Amino acid sequence: MSDLFKYLHPIGLKLKILLFISILTVGIIIIFINPIVKPTQVKLISNTNAISTNSSVDATGKFQVVYTPLQRKHSIQRQERFQKYQSFEKLAQKLNRVLIMPNDVKVILGDCGAVNAYYKPSEHSITICYELIDRFTEVFMDYYQSRELNINQPEVINKVNRRVAGTTVFTFFHELGHTLIEELDLPVTGKEEDTVDEFSTILLSELGQEYAALASAIQFGLSGNQEIASVSQDLSFWDEHSLNYQRFYNIICLVYGKEPQKYDVLVEKIGIPPQRQNTCRIDYSKKLKAWRTLLSPHLRESVNLL
Ligand SMILES: [Zn+2]
Repeated sequence: MSDLFKYLHPIGLKLKILLFISILTVGIIIIFINPIVKPTQVKLISNTNAISTNSSVDATGKFQVVYTPLQRKHSIQRQERFQKYQSFEKLAQKLNRVLIMPNDVKVILGDCGAVNAYYKPSEHSITICYELIDRFTEVFMDYYQSRELNINQPEVINKVNRRVAGTTVFTFFHELGHTLIEELDLPVTGKEEDTVDEFSTILLSELGQEYAALASAIQFGLSGNQEIASVSQDLSFWDEHSLNYQRFYNIICLVYGKEPQKYDVLVEKIGIPPQRQNTCRIDYSKKLKAWRTLLSPHLRESVNLL
């Protein structure tokens, strides 16, 4: 245990995360979210191998996007951007083409008065609070400010936006994981929070959008710095979520597991040792197989989710 704490020392890990961010090459990100700058071109998930565009399927339960009325100007701007690009509507449409759901599932976007995202079984709904997206933005802005970069520079704003977008999509797929477990009555034998982090990471990786998972890993790493800095308080070892640093490493481990050659430098830099690298590769294929097996009875004919 003492070795673990030594390894998780904030200074050492901060350096590793710095290295991680500096070597992370940029992929295409999925949706543009942050209204602080004119949007760059954004690509919705469109891997036709993973999600077919078969339009002949009939509806059962559908994912439906719902926007809540807003007061905050910043949120109104954000929402207008979502609506303009139909970001979540396109995601919902693609899910509807693939999944046979027993109930409609609302995807609710808006202000909640709390930094949160959650699935609510009684209402068959996923809620993404704009306050959470604001928090993601703060985390990334603080990071660049701490490196004395000018956060008003378009290049920096662009980086922040891409990472906020990626982290938000990762969060949506995390909540989608909870939704599928509950709505489809799927068995879970591990910690559900870890399981749905894995689901989100695997889905993004299979869609070729692992950049979104890595952006989320960075967010957990940066938040983990704060967690460790306040070590005078007890860390929440009892929590249903793993610690932020664990989520950081677990996500990267799986992304590496999918494409070891592409990410071998990355896992070396952040200090995942060779024996764990081995199990990352094994874990990825086992977990992918598990999700494919669990979801196969709930997929429309001839299409795959992952
Ligand atoms: Zn969760």
